Amino acid sequence: PQPNPQAGAAVKAADRAHVFHSWSAQELIDPPAIAGAEGSYFWDYDGNRYLDFTSGLVYTNIGYQHPKVVAAIQEQAATMTTFAPAYAVEARSEAARLIAERTPGDLDKIFFTNGGADAVEHAVRMARLHTGRAKVLSAYRSYHGGTQQAINITGDPRRWASDTGSAGVVRFWAPFLYRSRFYAENERQECERALQHLEDTITFEGPQTVAAIILETIPGTAGIMTPPPGYLAGVREICDRYGIVFILDEVMAGFGRTGKWFAVDHFEGVVPDLMTFAKGVNSGYVPLGGVAISGAVAETFARRPYPGGLTYSGHPLACAAAVATIHVMEDEGVLDNAARLGAELIGPGLADLAERHPSVGEVRGLGMFWALELVRNRETREPLVPYNATGEANAPMAAFGAAAKKNGLWPFINMNRTHVVPPCTITESEAKEGLAALDEALTAADEHVA
Ligand code: PLP
Repeated sequence: PQPNPQAGAAVKAADRAHVFHSWSAQELIDPPAIAGAEGSYFWDYDGNRYLDFTSGLVYTNIGYQHPKVVAAIQEQAATMTTFAPAYAVEARSEAARLIAERTPGDLDKIFFTNGGADAVEHAVRMARLHTGRAKVLSAYRSYHGGTQQAINITGDPRRWASDTGSAGVVRFWAPFLYRSRFYAENERQECERALQHLEDTITFEGPQTVAAIILETIPGTAGIMTPPPGYLAGVREICDRYGIVFILDEVMAGFGRTGKWFAVDHFEGVVPDLMTFAKGVNSGYVPLGGVAISGAVAETFARRPYPGGLTYSGHPLACAAAVATIHVMEDEGVLDNAARLGAELIGPGLADLAERHPSVGEVRGLGMFWALELVRNRETREPLVPYNATGEANAPMAAFGAAAKKNGLWPFINMNRTHVVPPCTITESEAKEGLAALDEALTAADEHVA
């Protein structure tokens, strides 16, 4: 594409004048003007092209502008752009069928939403009505969305400004061996102690008051911490024992990100009662999310109305995009690509970077879902920047980010971590290109190692 700085300047000027951006002090941001995107890359109006190691906000699991999904959206627009949710329409029925066939166990009914946060809102509402109880237990180091209930359930600093303190939410610590809250020395101890801590929390809160436990199957933005073997099965068992609804949030980890349809597929025998999804369901080409509902919870609303809905629930354009995305994932071996390149190239490549760069404290992940924990000191594990740092305190991570971009790589950064979360369709040569750019960028982080 030809550079066109003038067009870029106009886009930027209108943005600065009128677009109010998420999570930002409006006058302190400088949103790059983006001219286009395709596959694993996007480019600006000045002729700079970037390899996208963020998949947008970890959602373009099949990359940008996949021609088959674009065509399916065009075709749906030409035949039935929209239709209200109370009717049975082909795109919606077909999307629900394809999703339900891939979700585990008896999660066979799909309630469609506009995105992840409202999926979480509805999952929590269903759990409260199903149990007749009010409290929700959620984990520190989690993100569940920006709406009022979802942000209150969230266990990261994005909650602080909106925390009403009265939303019936109780937080607990989930397992994370690298920064263990349980003084654990191995995964077995971390698992046992995290389960004991959860059970103690329930005992002291009163089991009969707890409607649901919600967890990201593999926490995403909080740091991609795969739970130790046995943890999710243990949570399932605790939920069964106390009649608590188990909600798994697969908004980020679902639809191929981990090399399987859902992250929970890595944990044999574990089936939640409710499972939320969004993002990768149609690579975010048109906004869509949803809740997959078990037989038991669905039964609660079989003869009693479910008190909730959305004008755009199961929007045909979004559902047609989901149908096409699922077919692309299957026909083009996208899950296998993510699993194989994760295990054979990205995982070993990142381990090699960790050996050569003292700023890398830990590498963890699977599929196209990886985190590098950047530290000032490998022994003490002191993070490269303090928790929730801004401005000068965050300078080492900013320097790392700038170095990556200079090398044509757009990195995902959260606090002291960079996540490697490219599209699941990434090619071998693109992955190698990204690893080489990361190698250079980590040299900037190494300068801050104490
Ligand atoms: N849940 C998880 C695990 C997420 O990662 C996100 C978004 O990043 C959400 C929920 C919220 O989704 P949305 O931004 O589509 O509302």
